[in-house]
This record gives sequence, C-alpha cells and structure tokens, in this order.
Amino acid sequence: MSDVNPINYRIHLEPDLSGFKFKGNVEISLEAVEPVHEISLNILDLAIVNCSVKQDGSYVDCPFSLETEKEEMRISLPEERGGKLDLKIEYEGEINDKMAGFYRSRYVLGGNEKYIAVSQFEESDARRAFPCFDHPLKKATFEVEMIVDEKLVAISNAPITAEKSLGEGRKLVKFERTPRMSTYLLFLGVGEFEFIEDRGKVLVRVATMPGMTAYAKFGLEFGRKALEFSEDYYGIKYPLPKLDLIAIADFAAGAMENWGAITFRENLLLHYPNITSKAGEERICEVIAHEMAHQWFGNLVTPSDWKYLWLNESFATYFGYGIVTHYYPEWDIWEQFLHGQTDGALDRDALHETFPIEIPGGEHVVITASTAPIIYSKGGSVLRQVERYVGKENFKGGLRHYLRKHEYGCASSHDLWEALEEVSAMPVTKMMKSWIEQPGFPLVEVKREGDTLLLTQRRFTYLDKEAEQQWLIPVAIQVFYGDGQSKRISTLLESRSMHLDVGGDVVAYKINHEQTGFYRVRYLEGNDLEALGSRVATKELSQEDRWGIQNDLYALVRGGQVSIDDYLQFLASYSKEDAFLPLTSIAGNLFRAHLIFQGAREDKISSTGKSLLERVLSDIGFEPEPEERHTVSILRDQILWHLALYESADVLEFAAAKFSSLMRGQKLHPDIMRSVMQIGALQGDKSVFEWFTERLASSESEHERMDMLAALGSFKELKLIEKAQQYVLEEVPPRNKFVPITYMAANPHAVPHMWAWYRSNLEALEKFHPMHYERVIAAIVPVGGLGYEEEVDSFFQGYMGKKEKAKDVIKLSLERLRINSRMRNSL
Ligand SMILES: [Zn+2]
Repeated sequence: MSDVNPINYRIHLEPDLSGFKFKGNVEISLEAVEPVHEISLNILDLAIVNCSVKQDGSYVDCPFSLETEKEEMRISLPEERGGKLDLKIEYEGEINDKMAGFYRSRYVLGGNEKYIAVSQFEESDARRAFPCFDHPLKKATFEVEMIVDEKLVAISNAPITAEKSLGEGRKLVKFERTPRMSTYLLFLGVGEFEFIEDRGKVLVRVATMPGMTAYAKFGLEFGRKALEFSEDYYGIKYPLPKLDLIAIADFAAGAMENWGAITFRENLLLHYPNITSKAGEERICEVIAHEMAHQWFGNLVTPSDWKYLWLNESFATYFGYGIVTHYYPEWDIWEQFLHGQTDGALDRDALHETFPIEIPGGEHVVITASTAPIIYSKGGSVLRQVERYVGKENFKGGLRHYLRKHEYGCASSHDLWEALEEVSAMPVTKMMKSWIEQPGFPLVEVKREGDTLLLTQRRFTYLDKEAEQQWLIPVAIQVFYGDGQSKRISTLLESRSMHLDVGGDVVAYKINHEQTGFYRVRYLEGNDLEALGSRVATKELSQEDRWGIQNDLYALVRGGQVSIDDYLQFLASYSKEDAFLPLTSIAGNLFRAHLIFQGAREDKISSTGKSLLERVLSDIGFEPEPEERHTVSILRDQILWHLALYESADVLEFAAAKFSSLMRGQKLHPDIMRSVMQIGALQGDKSVFEWFTERLASSESEHERMDMLAALGSFKELKLIEKAQQYVLEEVPPRNKFVPITYMAANPHAVPHMWAWYRSNLEALEKFHPMHYERVIAAIVPVGGLGYEEEVDSFFQGYMGKKEKAKDVIKLSLERLRINSRMRNSL
C-alpha cells in the first residue's frame, strides 16, 4: 500500500433526485511520507471533470489516467512532492439502483412514487461517491456539505452546523467534521426524512419515510438502552453528539453501522403494533445492539485490513445477543444464540470448502453467504468460548484495554488477544491462534479406559479429509457418579489425545458441558450415549447439553458416521422435552432430513416429527397466550409449519380456519401470522394467490410483507408455485426477491422444480444484488440439486470461471449437495 495518507476530505455534493445524478467535488488534504510523482485514488463509475493540485496557494490542473479494472485513477503531479498536499477533484456520478455506493431507494406517498438518495459503502463502495483512498487503514476526517432541495432533509454522520438558503428552492447544508475514521463508514442521505428523537447527552433519533415515525418508538427506546450499555461496558463514551437510526426501504443487507448514522432495513428497525411478532421484535433489538457494538468495534477501532473483518463482526454478533440479554433476560437469548449462530457456524465450517476466521486474501474479502457464517457466527461462538475460559471480568477488562489502546486507529487480530492475555495472564494467544488462524474445528472422540477418559481430537468434516490439525480446546465435562453426585471437571486438550482422570464409579459423563466449546463430540461407546439419553429424559442435564447431544449426533449422521435410524431412535429420550433449544433444533434437523430422504425413510422421519411436535403443540397450545415466554411463541410458529407439511390434520384445520378469517378481514395474532399465512398458501388455490398479491401491493408494513413473501414460497400446487416464481421475478422489489425463493427452496413441493427454474431464469437471477444472488444459489443447489447431481456439477464447472465472485458460494453449495446426496443414498 502506498505511503500517501489522507488527513481530511471536504466533500461537496449536489444530488439531483429527479434525474438520479449528482455533481461532486472533493478536496483531499493528504500527506506523502516519501516524495511522490503520482497519486492513486479509488474511483468507480464516476466521470472526472477536473483534477488539480494546490501549488503555491492556488490549484493547478493535473493530468490523470483511469485504470478501470483496478477501480483507480492515477494523478500525475507537476513535480515530485513530499509532505502535505491538497488535491481537488470535480466529478459527476449516478444515483444508481444497485443498493451500493450512493443509490436511490423508492417509496410511495399518496399514491406517488418517490425516491430518496442514501449511501452504502462497506466494503469498497465509497469510491462510487467520491474519489478516495478506499481502504479501512486510510483513516481521515470528513467535512461534508450538500446542496439539496429546500424541502428535503440531509443526513450525514455528524450534526448539521449550518443551513443556508440559496434561493430557487435550494439550500446548502453543512455538517460538522467527523472523528478520524475509515471511508466505508461515511454516510450521505437526502430525502423526505421524518424524525422522532430522544434528547440526552447524546441525541438519539430514528429517521423514517413520511408517516412512519409512529412505528419508530420501540427502536428509539432500545437504541438509547443499547448506547447506555455500550458506554458502560466498554468504558469509553460514544464520541459523536448525535446518533441516528435510519430506516431505509431498499436495502441489500440487514443494517449498516455508519458512525452516527446507522441504516437499517425497515423491518429491522420499525415496530408495527399488532403486526410485529415477538421474533420480529427480538430481531430489531439484536440488530440495533449489533450495530451499536460496531460504533466501538469497527468504527472506533477498525481492522487494519479486510482479512481482520472478524474483529468487527464477531464482536458485533456476540454483543448483539449480550446487550439484548442484559435488558431482556427472560427472552432466553443465549439459547437462541446457540441455535441461530453456533449451530449454523458448525454446519458451515464442517465443509472442506471453508477458511479461517481470519480470512486469507485481504483486499478481496467481502461479506457473502460463504464468509458470513464464519466471521459472524463462528467468530461470535469462539468469543463465547473465550469469555467462559478467561472469565467475564477478564474478558471485559481485556476488551476495554484493547479499545483504549487502539481508539481512532486500526488493529489486527494479535492486538486483541495480546490485550486479553495481558489482562487475564492466561495462554490466550496460543489458544486464539488455533481457532482464528486455521480453518475448521475439532471433533472430540471419547471413551473410557479404567478410571480415565481417553479424549482424542481431529478435524470434523462431513466428507472425509486428511488433516493434521490440532486445536487448544478448553474442555469442560459434567461427570455423574453412582452415589448420585455430579461434578464439573475442566481441562485443556492441548495435544492429539489425553487421558483424564475422572475417578471410579462414573455412571455417565457429558463432554462440552453447557456447550461453551466450539466443537463436536462423539461417544465411541454406545453405553455412554445411552447413559446420557436417560439423563436427557429425566432432565438431569441442562437444556444446552440436551441440545448438544442430539445435535452432534445429527452432525454425525450428515458425516456418514451414524445412521438416521439411530438418530431417530435416540430422539425417544426427548419424549417429554419441553425446552426451546433442544426442541427447535430437533424440529429443524427432522425438517431438513425430511427434505433429503425419500420413501420409507422419509415416512419414518415425518411420522417421528409429527408425533413429537404434535405432543409439543398440545403442551404449549395452538393459540398464543398473553404472558407466555418468547421462545414458546417462536417455537409454535416454527412447528405449526412443520406439522402442516407432515400433514397433521388438526394443524391443517386450525390454520385453515385462521387463514379464512384473516382473508375475511379479521385480526390474527402476530406470533402465528407467518405459519398461518404459509399454511394458507399450502392449502390455497388461485384466489389465495391473488389475495396475497393484492395485499402485498397495499400493505404498509415490511413485517407483514415479509410474512407474505414467506407464504409466496409455500404453495403446494405446481401451477401456483410457477405463478409465484413469475411474480417474484416481475413484481417483488429487488431488495426482497431472494426471500420467497429461499422459502421455495425449503418447500418440499417446490424443491423438485427449483433447479430447472434456476437454469431457465439464470439471466434474471444474475441481475439480483450479488449477495442475494449468492443466497439463491446457496438455497437452491444443496437440496434442489438432488436427483440432478451430474447436471448440476457439470453446469457449475463451466460457470464458476465466468462468475468469479460467486465461486466460494457455488463450491460450498456443491459440497452440501454431495453430502445430501450421500445421505439420501445411504443404506
Ligand atoms: Zn455487523
């Protein structure tokens, strides 16, 4: 990287919302460590009008050339220069429809189609809005000003310092200088924003489209809470005078942590009374908490290179849950973390096609369907493991030390673990290196030898792989003795294998007590697993442990080491299970297995799922109760849909009645809205399809739209599935097109048709936002490719060369297809 560093950017923008264009000019003050002839800046899709450098107090024009492939402009200086330099560049650009860079987002007001302009710059799209050194290490301060329509509101990271009318309905809006920060965190927004606010030491506001502030109160209140928690926990005050949470209709990702101007999809910030479910409400809190953590992890201390992106996302994921649990301990957030993050990460990371949390490749690392489960979910899970290992206070102390030491600067992985090691005086560096710098995770195999347990580790992959890897594994074991006592034993597994003395008269033992470790366990002796099974049945084991035992067993089924019949048989231990975590996991595992297997096996899976879930549903009730736990509501919505697919007569009847009253205009409880709509579609005809499309067009809440998009993916009849597919391509807005497709890809009635549909609509699908297109591949191929394995393989062999960027996602999808195919064909 060049030794030329930006100090300050003065950005002047004139967006034209009717022509979708903007004029800009940027003055960059920079410093060349060594004398240079040439300066390279990143640009993309900008037309440069003029480029000049300050010389003896006035600007002189500079020649420049464009390197389009490299997304760079090269400026030739009139003479070799070192030290401080000022560049000025005039340019023009488009307010695009790509949901990247400076782009437009559509909304409808009073029947009229309208637009706002907003920015999304991570990882490398600030260059679409102004020429810059577009790398996280190149921190600078920013002074933004915009000329906008007098009736519009402009938002950026810092507060407004001055607004001046320019006549002819236009005004100049100037913003305060930002703290020193990276380009990807800058925000620019112009539109008919409305606000609600909470004045405190820091002004917290929620910005929405006109008429939507009524739905903003919940997010505003939780935003304030998350800010207070963060300042207190990290021990560093939030440095800006204001913090905006901005709801944006057209948004590719979930949210973006721009410093002081966080942007969200509408359904992840706005809360609609009587429509937003408990699950939706939790998701809002989790996302706000996640973005709030980024104001420190990412914004204040930034990765020095994209390969350290985990330093942002792992912490934000971890605190996304940590902050919520602080305010809502009754929501069972850590159980949801294990199911929603750790489980997905273990599944993702058990593929050959994986990579370390510290992703090799630096500059080209981006957040994709391939990388996200590793840097968010695995990273967050490894942090949970480390926190349990060093203890809560050491963890907090280490993080405070790390943030303080690197504030307004950049850091790499070793800076973090050195800080944790310094505070805890434990071998954190050695341990973290084994988890962060190598791909995959271990399987710990265990058997008894006399009064000891023999623990052995090797890498866990679904498909066979020779790997000489080892990890430093903190192992906690709960040991049960013949006299009825039990105790927890902790150790570090530092080598390939070890004997651990557990004493005599051991009747059972559970490895990975409370599931704090990021690894799978295999009990090599059937008796040991059986002994655990009986403690599952009596609930002597915690719900985390009850979850882990069956979930590891299911992973071994996917790995070909255990048969699905043995897994189903083991589920007998869960006949009285009533806890969310094991139940949601069992329901999910059975559901996925049922998509893969055929014939008698499939029947057996459905009937096991049906009887287990019918029993659960009769325990918790079909209808939501006013004071019930969140996890009960979330589980009910999940299993109603599964039971409908297993053809549970009671569920089909219940949902049909609910759905027809909904169609007649009656209210439906938000906590069963999604499943009832899905089952309505499943049992529906053409008139139901039309009801959904009419309601989608008129609905004012993104939460309701999300439920209906799920339903669009849930039809049974082929004709309706095809109509829904066509509707997705033609009518659903780009930001949401992937949503019904992912539901179709997990709908057993649509699955057999998805591969052919993908192939014949390739051109339309390729136009999706790259992140969404990858999600479509990752959703369709692993199950939809069953039965077409050779065709799928040969198609992608050629295709990968053309679609370089989707390569990782294609490879992991093909590997999942191989795993599923082997399961289906297993004896
Ligand atoms: Zn994030």
